[in-house]
Amino acid sequence: MDSTSAYVDSLRPAGSKRSGKRDLIVNVFLRQEGHLTADDLVDLIKREDQRISRATVYRTLQWMVDAGIARKVDFGEGRFRFEHSYRHPRHFHLICKTCNRSFEFLSSDIEALVEEVAAARGFTPRQSVLQIHGTCEGCQTGRPQVAEEGVPELLFARDALRIAIATERSGLDFYTRAASITRDARGRRVFEKLAEEEKEHLGTLEARYRQLLEQDSQLEARPTFLFFKGAANGLFAAGAEQLTKGVDDLKALMIGIRCERGSHRFFKRYGERFEDSEGKRIFLEFADEERAHLELLIREYRLLVERQRRGRRARRRPRSQATV
Ligand SMILES: [Zn+2]
Ligand SMILES: [Zn+2]
Repeated sequence: MDSTSAYVDSLRPAGSKRSGKRDLIVNVFLRQEGHLTADDLVDLIKREDQRISRATVYRTLQWMVDAGIARKVDFGEGRFRFEHSYRHPRHFHLICKTCNRSFEFLSSDIEALVEEVAAARGFTPRQSVLQIHGTCEGCQTGRPQVAEEGVPELLFARDALRIAIATERSGLDFYTRAASITRDARGRRVFEKLAEEEKEHLGTLEARYRQLLEQDSQLEARPTFLFFKGAANGLFAAGAEQLTKGVDDLKALMIGIRCERGSHRFFKRYGERFEDSEGKRIFLEFADEERAHLELLIREYRLLVERQRRGRRARRRPRSQATV
């Protein structure tokens, strides 16, 4: 059994029987990338099996929407289009009114803003739709945009890796600077160790990125799918900036804790909300690495506080003995 039929089986209510016609329709639909009208799907199905009626295709399409296999989208054309959600991350759309093609993107900043507004209004968001209507680059320039089409799952994985790599780089920069300003020998070793780890992770992520590029020769050139302005690397960049203003060892550890906590939260919360996919795994694995760093920093912070307290007591003692 391939992974798509396992996926469809997992969505079928317990006890309901498999239907040959429905399975055929679902499998044909899952093989498509892009946004199909119901009639596009009828044409595709008729090519496979003339005996399947239009009504059966329509009914199955509705079943797929209800089961969460298909998403219904309205591009303002007076009819609905459908896209599958299997390993296809949620996204927003750019819609070209000249060639009628649509392009997908996602933005962690827009999503954060939507959540902020919803939370402020005590609203539980279920779905948000963002469409940008206009003219695509290809239609404006007359040049074919070869890189526009791509498998969304690969684009998402590519961009998830780019975000993780950017975060590792700014983390590495942060720890390198922190190590250079820390006076406490043990605290300095902790920052050096973390810088080493970031370097190693960076190597692993870059290797994974190169592997991914092998799956699609044009992948690197395709337009950005996932936009993130600050996300987690912004946290480390702000932290590194703070270090340059001159801070003590405890403060440096505290800034590190804040950066890692923010980074862990971002990757965990963002990753958890996606359908199973390579991009989701990248986010969640990265979140785990950030949590390990966070725990190490918290431990070191407490130990340093303890060492400083003992140090102060030891310095005070000879004086108090002198007064006796
Ligand atoms: Zn166009
Ligand atoms: Zn779409």
